Amino acid sequence: MSRPARALVDAGALRHNLEQVRRRAPRARIMAVVKADGYGHGLSWVAQTLNGSVDAFGVSSVEEGIHLREVGIARPVCLLEGFFSADELPLLAKHRLEPAIHEEGQIKALAQASASLKLSVWLKIDTGMHRLGFAPAKVPEILKQLQRCAAVADIRLMSHFARADIPSDPETLTQADGFLSCVKDLGLESSLANSAGILAWPQSHLDWVRPGIMLYGASPLTQLSAAQLDLQPVMTLQTALIAVHTRCKGDPIGYGGDWRCPEDMPVGVAAIGYGDGYPRHAVGGTPVLVNGMRVPLIGRVSMDMITLDLHTQPQAKVGDPVVLWGQGLPIEEVAKCAGTISYELMCRVTERIPRVVI
Ligand SMILES: *Cc1c(COP(=O)(O)O)cnc(C)c1O
Repeated sequence: MSRPARALVDAGALRHNLEQVRRRAPRARIMAVVKADGYGHGLSWVAQTLNGSVDAFGVSSVEEGIHLREVGIARPVCLLEGFFSADELPLLAKHRLEPAIHEEGQIKALAQASASLKLSVWLKIDTGMHRLGFAPAKVPEILKQLQRCAAVADIRLMSHFARADIPSDPETLTQADGFLSCVKDLGLESSLANSAGILAWPQSHLDWVRPGIMLYGASPLTQLSAAQLDLQPVMTLQTALIAVHTRCKGDPIGYGGDWRCPEDMPVGVAAIGYGDGYPRHAVGGTPVLVNGMRVPLIGRVSMDMITLDLHTQPQAKVGDPVVLWGQGLPIEEVAKCAGTISYELMCRVTERIPRVVI
């Protein structure tokens, strides 16, 4: 038998979550965000599963865009970070990749590019994130420059929320109002909402929505769980127990020996660790499912293994299933125990974990 660690990826859950996007934003077109290898789920699998049901895909690099073309995706593909140098432009044109345009150097490159490229671009407007994009006051002038570029065919407008995960944060309304007043007279298609915008800020839906995390079945909102939002986890990271030992009161467990058994107790070892993307910073007590029941993580996370307190499951044995997150164990909860967010846990699942489609 091979090492039991694997990530099950559930096509039904992915389609269900897409339906939730459609239900929340029925009039908007959908750009499915599949950057970072489809948030760790597998770029081509995610894109092929959603293809035909979404209007476009969003990635962060030309390589990701070309990969989509190579696996037969014909829909528009947006490069959310734009292009990085002028020499990429012919590739963008060849593969019909639509870059975000967020700084002046890109406009200079487009101005010098050949009219035959006929690129569709997304002008990025900075409405308060202060990361990428042009200030709203500069947009009319930038737009004129873009429209003068012979290489540019279509122009769309977009901006990105900084704090839409907190439904009570007034900054999100300020961003939405700023974007709307900036784009309302321009007569161009526009896009603002990420997953949190789709779920909590209906006024941000506009022409295009850009869901990422909600497609994968995690909640982007601080106060509502995925289950409360009717989202289903797409990835279930699972493995199995590879050893169970009865340890004595006072025995130290694992590297550093900083966790000691408070009594005689069974300790399980599961084949998963930070070399697989399980977070090394997960604290003692982080929930893990053994045979579908919660047990606490104990001791330090190793590269290939974790140790579990099995005192509530004295009959657990080698080969029993272990779930790290996903079906039955929300990834947000594990992320909180590791001082991070679900996005990072998903993206960090390493290549040695086989993705198994269910
Ligand atoms: C990653 C990204 C998204 C998706 O965000 P989620 O919070 O995962 O929904 C949308 N728009 C842009 C520009 C992004 O970079």
